[in-house]
Order: sequence, then structure tokens, then C-alpha cells
Amino acid sequence: MGDLHSEIENLEAFEPVWNRKCEVCGEKPVVRATELCGPCTWGEADTANGAWWGDDDANRLATLRAKAQESGR
Ligand SMILES: [Zn+2]
Repeated sequence: MGDLHSEIENLEAFEPVWNRKCEVCGEKPVVRATELCGPCTWGEADTANGAWWGDDDANRLATLRAKAQESGR
């Protein structure tokens, strides 16, 4: 189980948070772990607007969370 939970935590660290603004430039969304937008976190313009986070990541996180719930918190 430990692996499952650490995998969820690792993914959640990168989940975009849309109700916060980047402390540096005011853009949304921010990376949960840094509370900064993609470009301010990684210095790469193509990570703007949550582009670092894809449907694959969202689906993977949803799947892992469902598994964790099944296995009984
Ligand atoms: Zn920023």
C-alpha cells in the first residue's frame, strides 16, 4: 500500500490548482507543490496554463485514488 500512497502524493504535488494565483506573476493555475505557475516553477514558457498536466495524469490520479479508497483508507 505504501507504494500506492506515495505514488498518489507524487502526482498530487504536480496537480494544477486553479483557484490560486502564482505569487510571482499572478497566472493560474499553480503547481500544488510550489504554489507557482508552470513557467515560474520550471522556467519554461510552454508549461503555461496548466500544460504540464495532461488528461493522462488526471486519469492516472483518479484511478489511483479510487484504488486507495477500495483498499480501505
Ligand atoms: Zn508565475
